[in-house]
Amino acid sequence: MSESRSAFITGASRGIGLAIAKLFASKGISVTCASRTAEALDEVVSEIRAGGGKAHAIPLDVSNLDDFSRVISESVDQFGGVDILINNAGIVKDNLLLRMKEDDWDSVIDINLKGSFNGIKAVTPLMMKQRSGRIVNITSVSGMMGNAGQANYSAAKAGMIGLTKTTARELASRNITVNAIAPGYIATDMTSKLNEKVKEDLIKHIPLRRIGEAEEIAETALFLCSDAAGYITGQTIAVNGGLYM
Ligand code: NAP
Repeated sequence: MSESRSAFITGASRGIGLAIAKLFASKGISVTCASRTAEALDEVVSEIRAGGGKAHAIPLDVSNLDDFSRVISESVDQFGGVDILINNAGIVKDNLLLRMKEDDWDSVIDINLKGSFNGIKAVTPLMMKQRSGRIVNITSVSGMMGNAGQANYSAAKAGMIGLTKTTARELASRNITVNAIAPGYIATDMTSKLNEKVKEDLIKHIPLRRIGEAEEIAETALFLCSDAAGYITGQTIAVNGGLYM
């Protein structure tokens, strides 16, 4: 595949999405970086452009389907197409089920699960017309094994695995692959609030005895979007240091 490709990456203002945007841009892929915060995106895009990459910033709340469809068109105007969609935007609002508020359930489902549905829905007509595409959904180890305090998040992330398998089946005939990556604990803002004691206890359960890096998820995303992964679809690749096998 030539590197005139373009990727639309949600949640690219920091953490895993930022690492994916930087890695893809360094390989010559044009990147559209989306998240809710315009200022943070402008900084990301300036940094990528300063390094010689092609990048464009689009403020977006992924939970709004109309907005998602509109910004996909904007990305096509900018880079001539969308070859890759990375559904990475996500939030946590943790609490034990008995204390979890309905709003916290709704917003986590809306952003993680519905946001991924919206992305796939918005980009699919274009990819079907192109007769090619790569979609990568960033789910979580919590969606595979469950995690006390994350009923909303683990339900959303498990839902993304089902969404991945079904859309992979529906889109395969158009040469569109759909896969998921399930990170374990990765050093980003999302996990920075864990106190040191919790982190130490956590590491004891990780066979590789460390928290992962965002760049390690980005490398897996790059592989799934490469020619080498052309025969992989509907899969969930765990990148978790062995935490869950
Ligand atoms: P992060 O550092 O908190 O970054 C989350 C990103 O999502 C930010 O760019 C944020 O930007 C964006 N975002 C949040 N809500 C959004 C919305 N409604 N619309 C558009 N963008 C939105 O988190 P991260 O650790 O990089 O996580 C990235 C993905 O990996 C998430 O799906 C997360 O669930 C998953 N994951 C992370 C870990 C981990 O240990 N870090 C483990 C497993 C899975 P704005 O706030 O500016 O919108």
